[in-house]
Amino acid sequence: MSKEIPYKIYLEESEMPKEWYNVRADMTKKPAPLLNPGTGKPMTAEELGVVFCDELVKQELDETTPYIPIPEEIRNFYKMYRPSPLVRAYCLEEKLGTPAKIYYKFEGNNTSGSHKLNSAIAQAYYAKKQGLKGVTTETGAGQWGTALSMACSYLGLDCKVFMVKVSYEQKPFRREVMRTYGASVTPSPSMDTEVGRKILEEFPGTNGSLGCAISEAVEVAVKSEGYRYVLGSVLNQVLLHQSVIGLETMAALKKYDIKPDMIIGCAGGGSNLGGLISPFMGEKLRGEADYRIIAVEPASCPSFTRGTYAYDFCDTGKVCPLSKMYTLGSGFIPAPNHAGGLRYHGMSTTLSELYNQGLMEARSVKQTEVFAAAEQFARVEGILPAPESSHAIKVAIDEALKCKETGEEKTIVFGLTGTGYFDMYAYEAFHDGKMTDYIPSDEEIAASLANLPKVEG
Ligand SMILES: *Cc1c(COP(=O)(O)O)cnc(C)c1O
Repeated sequence: MSKEIPYKIYLEESEMPKEWYNVRADMTKKPAPLLNPGTGKPMTAEELGVVFCDELVKQELDETTPYIPIPEEIRNFYKMYRPSPLVRAYCLEEKLGTPAKIYYKFEGNNTSGSHKLNSAIAQAYYAKKQGLKGVTTETGAGQWGTALSMACSYLGLDCKVFMVKVSYEQKPFRREVMRTYGASVTPSPSMDTEVGRKILEEFPGTNGSLGCAISEAVEVAVKSEGYRYVLGSVLNQVLLHQSVIGLETMAALKKYDIKPDMIIGCAGGGSNLGGLISPFMGEKLRGEADYRIIAVEPASCPSFTRGTYAYDFCDTGKVCPLSKMYTLGSGFIPAPNHAGGLRYHGMSTTLSELYNQGLMEARSVKQTEVFAAAEQFARVEGILPAPESSHAIKVAIDEALKCKETGEEKTIVFGLTGTGYFDMYAYEAFHDGKMTDYIPSDEEIAASLANLPKVEG
């Protein structure tokens, strides 16, 4: 007998996960290792330790331990804003007239407004434990920088953020939230780093890109005593920390004997999607259950759907290790009219490998459709969604409408990664009919991919 399902399924504090789940442990064919661009050999712990905190390097390289304890200090921090609710979208279902059952896991209930805080606090914690003075990072629209500055101020760590210049200038609100939490914020490319000066010389007046900001942040970390670099997505360690989303989702569903048919999430670098699906993918890999898993990406930055599975640079300045992933080429920069985030040229290696093995699907959607879905959702469910999250909303609605045609009562779970209060210029462009859909041509993508590094594998 299924129990009556509440609008919001919450877990008790005592039911919150005490361990993160490492999906790589259950993969027979593991994700490809990071390579040293100089030697072409897998990065060693010593080499990675120059850039990243020691404990995080351990997590990055660990592909055998399925459950990794969440330190008590981090669990206590999580309790300030978790467990996050799993919401039954009764109002959306009714509005759509669908027999599908729709649930979303809402990660926007904290000041940074997204899931990124789940990994920010973990990374800041390990940096502090190592006795470091501070960390450096990059941020695009600012969600990661905001999350990290919150975590660093909580732990008393210095936080230096390189923010993509166009966002620094056009999105002052998150910039000021970061400064409120004590972070220093520098527009990238900047004259503060060698790589920044080089990029500015080559492309004067450039708006910057995530890949370029990463190069700057890494350079400063490596050259500053007592600093390390931290990254808010893409890496295995970030997917590991974000597994708290999937573990809570699974626990909440199991409380009411709900079995999802499909799990949908937006994919930029893959951290929220990887975190949401990890425990479900684990069941799938162990042959215990089957789920359809769908990654949703913007048509303007379509790494999974139009990229190539190959080793590539993670950053424009080519200072980071090489990573095997679905990529559009490290020089790929989405069109400036692309407003919806998810603009990274590559993808998590773990998700790339799972996708390559056919264990998950991917779909790309246009930004005007995404904002139409966002608005439809906001009007019935109340929450003002982040543009990134709205990619998942769009596909969840599409799938629910398919159920309406076929009469199937499928259970759909999607990740609602955050709120969109700081994205109102993008909403404004949509409302004024000024938003356009730029889709890169095959030639543009091919030209960018022509610069992939030559690596075996
Ligand atoms: C950063 C961000 C994303 C995309 O990053 P992933 O690493 O792919 O999860 C999605 N939604 C929101 C709200 C974000 O801030």
